[in-house]
Amino acid sequence: MSKIAPTSIPRRGLLLVMSSPSGAGKTTLSRKLLAADSNIAMSVSVTTRKPRPGEVDGKDYHFIDQATFEKMVAAGELLEWATVFGNSYGTPKKPVEEALAKGRDVLFDIDWQGTQQLAQAMEDDLVRVFILPPNAETLRDRLIGRAQDSSSVVAKRMAEAPREISHWPEYDYVVVNDDADAAHLKVTAILTAERLRRRRQVGLTDFVRVMMKDL
Ligand code: ADP
Ligand code: 5GP
Repeated sequence: MSKIAPTSIPRRGLLLVMSSPSGAGKTTLSRKLLAADSNIAMSVSVTTRKPRPGEVDGKDYHFIDQATFEKMVAAGELLEWATVFGNSYGTPKKPVEEALAKGRDVLFDIDWQGTQQLAQAMEDDLVRVFILPPNAETLRDRLIGRAQDSSSVVAKRMAEAPREISHWPEYDYVVVNDDADAAHLKVTAILTAERLRRRRQVGLTDFVRVMMKDL
């Protein structure tokens, strides 16, 4: 009996963006996705914000100063950038281009401003997911419960939530993060379906041609 190898059709990588008001759970859902799927890697942003307790430079963010940030913008090294809560954030271009070329997916935890810029630059590669909290009280509880920001920072982030939430119609998918495992399953389903889009499966023509020869 002949052994049948698993079918693998070459495909182009995709850019999965998760945005939400601060505290809705996109970091939590990103971590779950990265742990469960070896074909997607996190885009590590640069930021001028100070590290939170436990955050690791080079893993959570590249923590840089404003002068370095401005140099990167001037040199064209950022794919998108924005000011959020008074700090500068941006996505380094090179790792994203390298991943896409290898057919690997990239996960972004960026805000609506960055998502709009990515859509202008690379709309065909982009999959936009907006994460909502189940209700306002839960959002406040999660921001406070994270216990990593001062009460004034929590208040600032809560005050920004309505403006951030108002951008949900610009996203392809919306997931309410009530139970984290259920929300994770939904994000996984989105990723699986988007990988199967015909235009991303660039090896389909050859795959079908080879099959046709034996029919
Ligand atoms: P964001 O990255 O959107 O700012 P986080 O992922 O840091 O949000 O989540 C904020 C807080 O809420 C964290 O303490 C996290 O552990 C908690 N959290 C996230 N999702 C859930 C959930 N589904 N149920 C309960 N707590 C959650
Ligand atoms: P935090 O300070 O909580 O890590 O992130 C604050 C906000 O900045 C979040 O909405 C997050 O999605 C956004 N953000 C993080 N990195 C980037 C980035 O590289 N570009 C843009 N546009 N937003 C980012």
